[in-house]
Amino acid sequence: MTPPLPFLWDRLTADDFADAVRAADGVALLPLGCLEKHGRHLPLGTDILIASELCRRAASVEPAVVVPCPPFGLVSEVRNGPGTLALRADTLLAVLRDLCADLSRNGLAKIVVVNGHGGNQELLRYFLRERLEEGGPYALYLFRPEWRGDEEKRYAAMLGRDALPECGHACIQETPEVMAIAPETVHMDRVVPEETHRLGRLAALRESFVSTSVDWYADYPAQIAGDPTGSTPELGEWLLSLHAEKLVRAIRAVRADTVTPVLLAEYRARSLDPLRNSRP
Ligand SMILES: [Zn+2]
Repeated sequence: MTPPLPFLWDRLTADDFADAVRAADGVALLPLGCLEKHGRHLPLGTDILIASELCRRAASVEPAVVVPCPPFGLVSEVRNGPGTLALRADTLLAVLRDLCADLSRNGLAKIVVVNGHGGNQELLRYFLRERLEEGGPYALYLFRPEWRGDEEKRYAAMLGRDALPECGHACIQETPEVMAIAPETVHMDRVVPEETHRLGRLAALRESFVSTSVDWYADYPAQIAGDPTGSTPELGEWLLSLHAEKLVRAIRAVRADTVTPVLLAEYRARSLDPLRNSRP
């Protein structure tokens, strides 16, 4: 018998897990975040809380097995803050490889990574590219929600503004979301508004299209980008519902996707013998 939604891996018995994998057609949601400072007012696990909550909400609507969120991400650029748990990029890649291989061994052949931490994105793009070279029977999908249509304008209007204010980290988006998920972990009285704006200490290089390893630290050493003043749990609820709806659509698209696995296999076969595809 199929257990009730959502299929949360760590809450299922072994037999229920097997039924859940079948009911989910082998679709897994793998939330990823990190542990790092989020200003002075949000918990270290902000990205984990948000990514896990999006997965839980979406999987309550559309069947998918939700993997517990690992407590680490790529945060080498923010080790200046207390509580950052920074594994090396090559260690993280090794973990991702083993983790996804073992999800696949458990019947989860379509793995949707739900990324809640911007700093993970480059690593995940690389991991996605690596799937072209590595064998293995699973397909990997990367989900990170963005504004669509007039959503950004609608949110700005909810904040009483014409356009969204500066926002990037522990700001007027993440703060309301954490307020909606775990209000007891938010401490608005500790926000220091002067710390929330871009310092622009490498602006001359940036304007010349030059990047460095300390770009983030140069701009936001307090690990807060954008003033969270005005955050409410209602705003967070709106944002979480909006993004969870997008994840529901993504799960449906992944479930229906028959093209990616075929193209992956075809690409790998052809890449092993490229001359075969050339003209005689
Ligand atoms: Zn965050």
